[in-house]
Amino acid sequence: MAAEASTSPGRFGPYGGRYVPETLVPALDELDAEFRRAWSDPVFREEFENLSAHYVGRPTPLTECRRLSQETGLQVSVKREDLCHTGAHKINNALGQCLLARSMGKDRIIAETGAGQHGVATATVCALFGMKCEVYMGEEDCARQELNVFRMKLLGAKVIPVSSGTKTLKDALNEAMRDWVTNVRDTHYVIGTAAGPHPYPTMVREFQAVIGREARQQYVNRHGKLPDVGVACVGGGSNAIGFFHAFISDSTRLIGVEAGGLGIPSGQHAAPLSAGEPGVLHGSFSYMLQDEEGQVLATHSVSAGLDYPGVGAEHSHLKDMGRVEYMAVTDDEALTAFKELARLEGLIPAFESAHAFAALWKNGLIEPGAHVLVNMSGRGDKDMERAAQLFGY
Ligand SMILES: *Cc1c(COP(=O)(O)O)cnc(C)c1O
Repeated sequence: MAAEASTSPGRFGPYGGRYVPETLVPALDELDAEFRRAWSDPVFREEFENLSAHYVGRPTPLTECRRLSQETGLQVSVKREDLCHTGAHKINNALGQCLLARSMGKDRIIAETGAGQHGVATATVCALFGMKCEVYMGEEDCARQELNVFRMKLLGAKVIPVSSGTKTLKDALNEAMRDWVTNVRDTHYVIGTAAGPHPYPTMVREFQAVIGREARQQYVNRHGKLPDVGVACVGGGSNAIGFFHAFISDSTRLIGVEAGGLGIPSGQHAAPLSAGEPGVLHGSFSYMLQDEEGQVLATHSVSAGLDYPGVGAEHSHLKDMGRVEYMAVTDDEALTAFKELARLEGLIPAFESAHAFAALWKNGLIEPGAHVLVNMSGRGDKDMERAAQLFGY
């Protein structure tokens, strides 16, 4: 694709690369080679597509939103990743990586998780394949997302609470990386987003690119043209890059929405593309939230899945090239969109996805009457308890 053509493998412009301990380099080389082999192997592709159809539930529908369109003065369609098995797009990637691990003869899977959605998706696929699964999760997140801890246990996974640092996602990632360095011979590390060292950003994008491929085709079939605008939320960036990828060479305007938390000026947010600087985090060079010494800053978002100080390298390049516009919406704006979508369309989005919808209400952002396609990355069941507290139900 245009975004990669000018640079070396594993780089998106200056971004990406592999900033990892030397012991991991052979494992990343092996993973890169095996991924490329598998991805061009019709047998592997057929198995991926078969399970995507009959286990995950693909293709997911495209829904026209009449009442939401009336309310916003736009023509809104929604890609329904909330209807994937386990309730979000994350299983597309977990399925791809576990299939790959199996074909590499690795029977132990490790993963990190924040809200628990990636942990649940990975534990689910491991149950399906009969693989051993261990999930690193910050102690703080274990307490906040107890239901997902129970889910993972029920699915046969071992949940390892992480007590270092802020006891959240970035610390879980550090611990998982440490485990992988030690056990790399029999273990595959399933990273849950399009971040991390090469080949993860490319590999995760390819496993998620089915979202944009389907959505583009469905949209054109129904409307006889491409959408004017595509919108997705950006945490680590996997649903957004999977959705955007099919449109990169088109004229469709692409908007990535980050977690603005309590507002960018407050410093309490998780918006590295809107308010960060390039630096190295979790093995990759990309925009991140850091202090003057390059130390990672604490983040805040009402949505646990967007509460991450870094972002996938390809997004950094797309930002610098000006191909994708990145912006942030606040917790309050996302919560308003969450409520409105439920009231107007009978759709309860994940708090993460509600950030993408909030862009529809931003004054002056999208031209009135524009045809907008929003990627609904997941459903909001997991967020109902928090929503009930916040809304005083
Ligand atoms: C995890 C998650 C996200 C954020 O992750 P990305 O890698 O940025 O997609 C977004 N939406 C939902 C529903 C999630 O579970």
